[in-house]
Parts: sequence; structure tokens; C-alpha cells
Amino acid sequence: MKIHEYQAKELFRKYQIPVPQGKPAFSATEAVTLAPSVSANGPWVVKAQIHAGGRGKGGGVKVAKTMDEVRAFANNIFGMQLVTHQTGPEGKEVKRLLIEEGAQIASENYLAVTLDRASSRLVIMASRAGGMDIEEVAAKTPEQIFKEWVEPAIGLRSYQSRRLASKMGFTGNAAKQLGDILQKLIKFYQEYDCELAEINPLITTKDGNLVALDAKINFDNNALFRHPSLLELTDPNEEDPAETQAKKFDLNFITLDGNIGCMVNGAGLAMATMDIIKLEGGSPANFLDVGGGATEEKVREAFKIILKDEKVKAILVNIFGGIMKCDVIASGILGAAKELKLHVPLVVRLEGTNVDLGKKILSESNIKVITATGMKEAAQKVVAASKGQQ
Ligand code: GDP
Ligand code: MN
Repeated sequence: MKIHEYQAKELFRKYQIPVPQGKPAFSATEAVTLAPSVSANGPWVVKAQIHAGGRGKGGGVKVAKTMDEVRAFANNIFGMQLVTHQTGPEGKEVKRLLIEEGAQIASENYLAVTLDRASSRLVIMASRAGGMDIEEVAAKTPEQIFKEWVEPAIGLRSYQSRRLASKMGFTGNAAKQLGDILQKLIKFYQEYDCELAEINPLITTKDGNLVALDAKINFDNNALFRHPSLLELTDPNEEDPAETQAKKFDLNFITLDGNIGCMVNGAGLAMATMDIIKLEGGSPANFLDVGGGATEEKVREAFKIILKDEKVKAILVNIFGGIMKCDVIASGILGAAKELKLHVPLVVRLEGTNVDLGKKILSESNIKVITATGMKEAAQKVVAASKGQQ
């Protein structure tokens, strides 16, 4: 789960990680009204709040020297369709702003905590090449990223902080502050079950202090039940509507960018189905596992979510009936097709419990079904159908 920068900074504040004064605004006017309360005389920074990085390059972060500039930037950024390397070409509409006191930047650095799966430890990553695209730094000049691993039973040791500070060129107060921020960031990361806690840039100010000028946090979805307060931070505008709908019906659903809708039971079979579609030259529009004991209603809702996706050019239903019965799937499909017109070819491969009954329900209905027996045949048929060859 991702949250906005202003929300991440509020959490940082609780952990006494230094961040600039700032407030969220839900309109351009509100940003202008709030500006004097974050800084009396400026400069101010107007920042687009979307769940994507690279906002600065895309025109979503502007430093204003006067209140007139605050007004102009707020009006310009609020409501804009912000395109960054992380939003895709269609961009994302800006519906929230962060108005902040402007910082006097001496240097822009990078600092992050994440899990290193290979060593089963948290890893600290730090670089003097902050502010810019860290992926590019990692790819082209990996030697500019310094790492320290955290021993779980001990935590980050002070010599590790000093070693990082020295590599970063921080001395005196700045070195001390880095150690302090690192301890707090690790504590935060662990207490909130994060996947990533990233500060880019971590600046040094002209008077020699470290400040987190940006904040990006990903939380581990599987641990969200331990942090109910985080759920209040979700922004419906940032969620995929199909995934939100799927969540209501407890379906495991993820939108992908292909054009073959998939309805499958069991995560393993769903993965295998996507693989074989790829192997046959097609591309899945979604991952969908309807689960083991899905009801007819659940199947109907799942099928409706797939049908509503305009990219979908063909649908593959691939079910192995165990606990799940094939007739339940067939009835669910019929139910959905009654509500929403089935406007694309449908390939069905059923196997297992009540398979004959399932096939009978479909063949006696008035919807057109392309049947298949094996997975390979099903994949070939749906890929052909998605390309308009039937
Ligand atoms: P991102 O592009 O989405 O990562 O957004 P950031 O919050 O990292 O801002 C992008 C860039 O804007 C930073 O790297 C800074 O160069 C600049 N910036 C952000 N806040 C300030 C500020 O308070 N003062 C100045 N001078 N520049 C800022
Ligand atoms: Mn940034």
C-alpha cells in the first residue's frame, strides 16, 4: 500500500524525523490560504500529491517566492494531468496539493531502508546522488550507492552510521544527524511493517542540518491488519476501480495491460494460465483467482469486472473444479452475461467436479461459448480469438 508524501511526512514527524513545515490542501484556494501558516514570508513550495515519483521533472513541484506565485502554481498544478515516468503516458489528475515552507538546499542526497531478501536483513541505501532518478544511478553508477545491512538482533551499529556518514561526506553535526535519522527510520520501518521507506532527497540545508524533503513509503499489504489506522490513509482516486470492486467481493484480482480477460480458480492455476497465454503469443488483461469456494454471486461479479474492461478482446475461463464446482462457475457466467452483454469471444475450459453439469448449463444457454479440453488448446483458442481469428 502506498500513501501520499504529506501523509508520509506526518508519520515521519511522529518519529521526529525532520521534515519541512507543510500542510495538505484539497483545492488551489486552500493552498493559498494555508501558505502564510507554513511560512510567513516564503519561499513556499507547491507540490502535487499523487502516488508516483518524478513529479519535479513533470512540473508538479514548484518553488514560489511570492504569494502571487503560490496562487499561480497552485492553480496550475491542481487539476493538471501530471505525467511522470511512473504514471504512464496518460498521467494522473492532481486532486491534492502539499504547501510547504521552501528549504535552502546545500546538497541533495538519497536515503532508504528496504528489505534485502537475499540476506533476509534490512538494508540501508544511501547516496550523494540524490534528488534525481535513483534507478538510473543504480543502473549506471552503482558504486555511488552505499549500503549497510542491519543485523536483526542488534540493530544498526553506530560504526555503520559513521561509515555511511563518512562515505556521504558528512562531518560533525550532519554525521550525528544522519545516525539519528537512520535509527528513527529503521524503527519506523519495523513498527509499521514497511516494504520501503525512502527519502529522496535528504537535503543538507545551508545551515548544516539534514531534512527529509520528500518521503515515499510502501507498506506490506499482508501486515495491514496490524495497522488499521493506515487504512484511513487510502486515497480512492489512486486505486484501480476494478481492483476496489474486486476487493468488495473478496476476489484476488490485479489489472494487467494485455487484452485477454482471465477467470481462473487458484493462484497457481491463474499464474500458469497467464504463462501459457504469453507462450501462445497473447497477453493477459488481468490476474483473477476466484478462490476455492466461490459462490455463484462471486463468480458473477468477477465476470462482470472482466466484461467492463474495455481493453478485453477475449475471455478465457479456466477452471479446475475441486471444492469449486463447475456448475457454479457456469451459472455465474450466465448470470453476468444476462446483466452485461457478452460482446467478446468466450473460451471455456472446465475440468473436475460437476464438469458435465457445468458444460450442460453453458451449452443449453444462448451464449456463444468456444470450448476447449486442455490448457494449451484453450490458450491457443483464446489468443486467436483476441486477434479476431476464430
Ligand atoms: P519528486 O520529483 O516526485 O521526487 O518530488 P520531490 O519532492 O523529490 O521534489 C523534486 C525536486 O524539487 C527536489 O529534488 C528539489 O530539487 C526540488 N525541491 C523540492 N522542495 C524544494 C524546496 O523546498 N526548495 C527548493 N529550492 N527546491 C525544492
Ligand atoms: Mn523525490
